[in-house]
Amino acid sequence: MNRISHWVNNKVVAGTSGKSGKVFNPATGKQESEVDLANIADVDAAIASAKAAFPAWRATNLSRRAEIMFRMRELIDANRKEIASLLTQEHGKVPSDALGEVARGLENIEFACGVPAMLKGGYSEQASTGVDVYSIRQPLGVVAGITPFNCPAMVPMWMFANAIMCGNTFVLKPSEKDPSASMFIADLLRQAGLPDGVYNVVHGDKVAVDRLLEHPDIAAVSFVGSTPIAKYVYETGTKNGKRVQALGGAKNHMLVLPDADLDMAADAAISAAYGSAGERCMAVSVVLSVDSVADALVEKIKTRVPNIKVGAGTDPASEMGPLISREHRDKVAGYVTGAAKEGAKVVIDGTDKAKDEGFFLNPSLIDHVKPGMKCYDEEIFGPVLTVMRVKGYDEGLKTINDNQFGNGTAIFTRDGGVARQFQYEVNVGMVGINVPIPVPVSYYSFGGWKASLFGDQHMYGPEGINFYTRGKVVTSRWPDPRTSQVDLGFPHNR
Ligand code: NAD
Repeated sequence: MNRISHWVNNKVVAGTSGKSGKVFNPATGKQESEVDLANIADVDAAIASAKAAFPAWRATNLSRRAEIMFRMRELIDANRKEIASLLTQEHGKVPSDALGEVARGLENIEFACGVPAMLKGGYSEQASTGVDVYSIRQPLGVVAGITPFNCPAMVPMWMFANAIMCGNTFVLKPSEKDPSASMFIADLLRQAGLPDGVYNVVHGDKVAVDRLLEHPDIAAVSFVGSTPIAKYVYETGTKNGKRVQALGGAKNHMLVLPDADLDMAADAAISAAYGSAGERCMAVSVVLSVDSVADALVEKIKTRVPNIKVGAGTDPASEMGPLISREHRDKVAGYVTGAAKEGAKVVIDGTDKAKDEGFFLNPSLIDHVKPGMKCYDEEIFGPVLTVMRVKGYDEGLKTINDNQFGNGTAIFTRDGGVARQFQYEVNVGMVGINVPIPVPVSYYSFGGWKASLFGDQHMYGPEGINFYTRGKVVTSRWPDPRTSQVDLGFPHNR
């Protein structure tokens, strides 16, 4: 059985807890690996290595840091297929999805190559007579990343690239369900020339997370995962004096107005709902259709769904792979079965596929969904598209704004004025206008509102740089004997 251990000081280190987790190939349903689950001593060892590496890394000049990140960019580019195949093996993604994930992660590495340009401070000459004032941004120290199963390569890249370019050292706790990508990336960072201890990986569960949240040498925590754990991580981390950004779950609505191109809207809804088997925090899970076009739109979606090729990612023809685990597949199937009992109309039931050995489901489509039904109120995180009918724009907007989540949303319309109104009024962090999955490019920042984000700073891009640095303002005067005098008054400028 393949064994996956921790990564400390640029090498693989066996865990000491005697506890391990099972890693499956979701397409076959078979266990492929055993992953060490860290105890407190294992986490402490990784933090100690990051702490020891911090002074020298912080002192490493920006050009040298950028040189390493440029090499990392080349290494990831050269290893796209290898990383993607690890994602297929442990997460189940089909190649187009896995390669897309690597490409979007790579964007963050490319952004990080330019971090030196983002670390320029401000300078005010002659703020007072003979006095200059300037601001600088400095790294925090050892920072931690805790990541979910659904993007095991991209989400760590959202975090560590900017964190280390800002001069911090890093400890990653990836999802224990698909841990291999983080180890592969760790070795690429070593090959790129990253010094020992700057990037470390500990595998584990709540024990490891809790240790990161309470350890006095962790200065900040970036978390991505489900809302209850995001809230817990935010509350516990901040209680322990850490800076925390904790991104949570989602329920993303796509509002379709009567003037929209319905074929385009149907294609977009299908792609955004069933891509990655719906296991994306930016997946469209609710189509809000204005009544007058709802029947036509549902019909267009319904006729497209059977064309989706569900199968293992090792088959190049597959467009949608399995779910992450048997338990998750059964939970998702439960939402479909439950919806019929709650009075929704199951137009396409994909749960028949749940009998397979692999953790597959076929796509499901549920119409006439309403708030109060479980399939609407809860995040499903599977290949289930629900349709809610609304009278018009106002009811659609109110539905989105009343929802507890605020990660992503989209409007489909040809009316620029209404689209502009929507972007102004909607209480959601990432908005698409005729774009169903509006994941911001790496030089903007990623993050939702409401129960989709706990903390003040969104992830990556400019807000990522703010998160991983703290500001210092220096007020300086160089002695000039001509201006020297005793003055006990409060320092002032006028
Ligand atoms: P999860 O919350 O179960 O796990 C995320 C991380 O937290 C993992 O590393 C896991 O080991 C750890 N964890 C799990 N339970 C814990 C506990 N009780 N105490 C401490 N740590 C714990 O999430 P997941 O199932 O891996 O990922 C899917 C979720 O992530 C979905 O809700 C999805 O919407 C969300 N997600 C959000 C974003 C975003 O940017 N907002 C992006 C991707 C995924």
